[in-house]
Amino acid sequence: MAITPAASLRAAIVTGLAFFISAFVAVHYSRLSGGVAMVWLANAILAARLHALPVRCWPATILACAVAGLMLTSLFGLGWRAAPFLTAANLFEGVAAAAILRRITRSHWPDDTAEWMAGYSLGIGLAVPLLGAAVSAITLSLVAGLPMRVNFVDWLIGHSLGLLIFLPCGSLVCMAWQTREPLLPQGAGTRAMLLAGTMAVLTLAVFMQTARPLLLFPLLLVVFGGIWANAFVALMLPMILATLGGLLTLYGHGPIADMQPSPTDLNVLAGRLQFFQVYLGVTVLCVLPIVAEQERRRRRMRDLAHSEARYRLLSDHVSDVIIHMARSGTIRYASPAITQLTGHAPEQLSGVDFRQIVVEEHRAAVAAAWNAAVASPGEPVAVEYLSLPLGGPSRWFETHFRAVTNETGDVDGLVCVTRDIAQRKRIEEDLSRAALTDPLTGIPNRRAFFETAERVGASGVPSALAVIDIDYFKLVNDRHGHAVGDRVLRAFAETAVAAVRSTDFVARIGGEEFAVLLPDTELVHAEKVCQRLAKAVNALAVDTPQGQVKITISAGIAALGAHPDAALAAADSALYHAKAEGRARLRVAA
Ligand code: GH3
Ligand code: MG
Ligand code: MG
Repeated sequence: MAITPAASLRAAIVTGLAFFISAFVAVHYSRLSGGVAMVWLANAILAARLHALPVRCWPATILACAVAGLMLTSLFGLGWRAAPFLTAANLFEGVAAAAILRRITRSHWPDDTAEWMAGYSLGIGLAVPLLGAAVSAITLSLVAGLPMRVNFVDWLIGHSLGLLIFLPCGSLVCMAWQTREPLLPQGAGTRAMLLAGTMAVLTLAVFMQTARPLLLFPLLLVVFGGIWANAFVALMLPMILATLGGLLTLYGHGPIADMQPSPTDLNVLAGRLQFFQVYLGVTVLCVLPIVAEQERRRRRMRDLAHSEARYRLLSDHVSDVIIHMARSGTIRYASPAITQLTGHAPEQLSGVDFRQIVVEEHRAAVAAAWNAAVASPGEPVAVEYLSLPLGGPSRWFETHFRAVTNETGDVDGLVCVTRDIAQRKRIEEDLSRAALTDPLTGIPNRRAFFETAERVGASGVPSALAVIDIDYFKLVNDRHGHAVGDRVLRAFAETAVAAVRSTDFVARIGGEEFAVLLPDTELVHAEKVCQRLAKAVNALAVDTPQGQVKITISAGIAALGAHPDAALAAADSALYHAKAEGRARLRVAA
């Protein structure tokens, strides 16, 4: 979201004010050793704010906090000479923490919890305050002659824990403010109130008495909140614990107020505060990995829901059927388009074995495709087959199988896309029929004749073939025209098909040249069939305006063996003799 200069300035002023107030309270109430403050949230406020802002808006906010820091230290803290150094140390901590948080969150949140936690605790919780503590301890020793070690330790603990405890919750609040997104999802208010109320009551109960083991219960509730509620609630609970528990401890109540940190420690209150802060720091560090895990789960669920919605949309609206099957072949899911294809509702197919909807003859081909898909998961394997869905009429289907693997790489099912290819099959059949049919007469052509002759010859059954040529056909064309010639060819084809047996095969193998294949027929019988055919042709008369056209035929007959070419050559030679002997006669090859 774009940030206007006015909004940027407003953010800078608000952050500067919050920085000042928080630092003022810390300086006023927690400078217990006379040096640096023991509790320091101001840098966490700056870091949380910067983390939510684009980097180009950082200078204004840093400047506002610089002014706040200088004023505070000069007027209420260690004086104007220390102010520039301490302010620089504070600003460095805020900026460095924001930069580290941004970096680790972008690259590791929420997927690599270990890396994020390492960056968070070692970078923000240790390295950053270590540098700040070094600068401040040297400054205080040089400017005010204060002891280095005490100030170094107090600064380190106060600033480290201030960042660790407050930054996660603070940055969530700042982000929500920036993006105008609610901190709680809709309907989660009651749960949040319940948890916050329980936390308040529990904190009061634990810090109104002195039994130290009870300190573990608020920690337990924070962990529970991390599991049960969202990130904001989980990180807000330690804030309630910090506020109520901190106040009660300051006023001498609770299990920590009773504590003597070490026999040599002069400032008992300082020790208690440090212990309390460590307790809070541990609480926040405990809940952060849980928050990351919950966030990871939330994102996964969201991605899953999106992808589920996307795929449901696809599978519900494509005309192809999407089927998901178990490894065993049982249909787990069929998309609604199955109803158009088979007339059955998707639920009727659920639990049915896929093989049952394939006709017996095609099951082997389907099984081969299935096995190929299983052998190379992810690769689609296509197969065409006749399907018989639950007893309905059989139809041609085309299916693309694809094996699906589980997380260990084993195939645990198949997904397939199935479509009706009846129309394509019809076209294919029409085309292949056309390729084998003579367009003028409608009987098989030369190619079909040779294919059939090969098959019949290869069967080894004694068979015969005849080559028939219409006599003086050229004269028909010349006298009556080509159209009449065509009619004569058609009439001849019709007569020939009717004259031979149903098992015989008549084809047009040239212009006015025909062939008859006579399977399972001795030569003598073939000759008889051809005589009958010639008789029928003699009786044929085609009417024309110039009168009737009559034709005769000559034929050569030969036995068909394993080589149709040789049989055809022999029949041709016999035909040649028939023609030479005067036409209108049959000759059997010697
Ligand atoms: P023969 O007795 O020696 O067989 O004499 P023919 O005239 O029948 O023989 P030829 O091979 O000289 O002539 C065959 C004729 O058949 C020539 C050609 O124009 C004609 N023809 C070939 N295909 C067609 C066709 O599809 N339609 C028509 N109308 N005529 C055709
Ligand atoms: Mg001819
Ligand atoms: Mg001829």
